[in-house]
Amino acid sequence: MWDVYEPFIKTKRQKELFSLSEHLAAKVRKRAAETDRKGSFSLENLKDLKDTGYVALSLPKELGGEGLSLYEFVLLQEKLAEGDGSVALSIGWHLGIIMEIRDENLWEPSTFEWLCSEVSAHKKIINRAATEPATGSPTRGGIPETRAVANESGYTITGRKSFTTMAEVLDYYLVSAYIDEFDEIGWFLIERNQSGVSVEHTWDTLGMRGTGSHDLVLNGVHVDKSKLVELKASKQEKPIPKGWLLHIPSCYLGIAIAARNEAIEFAKNYQPNSLQTPISEVHHVKEKVGQMDLELLNARHFMYAVTEKWDHYPEERIRLGPELAAVKTIATNAANKVVDLAMRIVGGRGLSKTSSFERYYRDVRAGLHNPPMDDAVIQTLAQRALDDN
Ligand SMILES: Cc1cc2nc3c(=O)[nH]c(=O)nc-3n(C[C@H](O)[C@H](O)[C@H](O)COP(=O)(O)OP(=O)(O)OC[C@H]3O[C@@H](n4cnc5c(N)ncnc54)[C@H](O)[C@@H]3O)c2cc1C
Repeated sequence: MWDVYEPFIKTKRQKELFSLSEHLAAKVRKRAAETDRKGSFSLENLKDLKDTGYVALSLPKELGGEGLSLYEFVLLQEKLAEGDGSVALSIGWHLGIIMEIRDENLWEPSTFEWLCSEVSAHKKIINRAATEPATGSPTRGGIPETRAVANESGYTITGRKSFTTMAEVLDYYLVSAYIDEFDEIGWFLIERNQSGVSVEHTWDTLGMRGTGSHDLVLNGVHVDKSKLVELKASKQEKPIPKGWLLHIPSCYLGIAIAARNEAIEFAKNYQPNSLQTPISEVHHVKEKVGQMDLELLNARHFMYAVTEKWDHYPEERIRLGPELAAVKTIATNAANKVVDLAMRIVGGRGLSKTSSFERYYRDVRAGLHNPPMDDAVIQTLAQRALDDN
């Protein structure tokens, strides 16, 4: 079968990094059905991600990592998601957040260096906990109901975060909270084992069950002042586009590739006794195969082109927001279409709980509810088109 990754692996380094992802994808694929059933993040997968050094890839080279570029990040994540989308999305948050802090110099250098040593030497993992029941997606601009109240030695934080991916296995939560003292939103670094921190098992969803995105509850958690690591730059003139969020489209495209490959394999090997050939020779099946590849070519060439632009023209990044957003919408919708087509090829068998197709179908749906959401993307594009300057 034609290898869909081949056109995008261009250098020796990309090939080497990709083989690590390939190795991990094969491992996590074997556990995908079980983690989906359990609805929690697999400890075995976590061990593999740590043992292979995958969790450290986006750290700067001089601080123990590989200084992953956005292109490399997207390439590796797409392959990993082919094995299990939940694993890719989850570890994608961790790797992407490090990339974001690295590239935007968001933290005090000494604090970032400390985090890098936690990741490279002790394989610690981190994720942002931003979503709340009352704000919904933080990208809509809602003010967190989680409050950080200043006191003599630091802050006391109370609130609840929903959708906290890997909540049970994270070492550090990066929690957004409204700070009365500054009338600003800030981000606090909170440890899992700190007093007042607990995880409530609320994650019982249709798709991406293996992300274990439970509620994080903060009940009077005390942190010292140094743990306020970011203040939201509300006075910033133009927000800096977030290239690292392309791990989201790459994840859902990886799931779609898994469905595409399995559907093609099935079509080439399934010959009902009403036919003289496998169903791959039947016109309507061929058409669906072609349509799947049309969707994937369109989304993936666009995604990789924008990613290359991000990496090679840093001065252009500030203007790339609408393109990044468009990649997400095109890719996640294409991924939904591809999985749907794959399931039409496979037929009723794909509905079985023993088939991976029904998991792909559920998982890929979640992409619509990761940021940025489709309506916001369309508004962004319209606004740019209609603006006078
Ligand atoms: C698998 C998965 C993993 C996730 N992991 C994390 C994580 O690790 N950390 C984290 O913080 N979050 C995480 N999230 C949360 C995610 O980023 C969103 O915050 C969450 O899905 C809620 O977004 P929503 O659009 O469904 O909800 P809402 O924002 O509540 O929207 C609900 C509906 O209201 C509409 N709506 C709401 N506000 C507006 C508005 N201002 N203008 C127009 N329409 C509006 C929406 O279009 C939608 O139709 C995860 C989500 C998923 C699915």
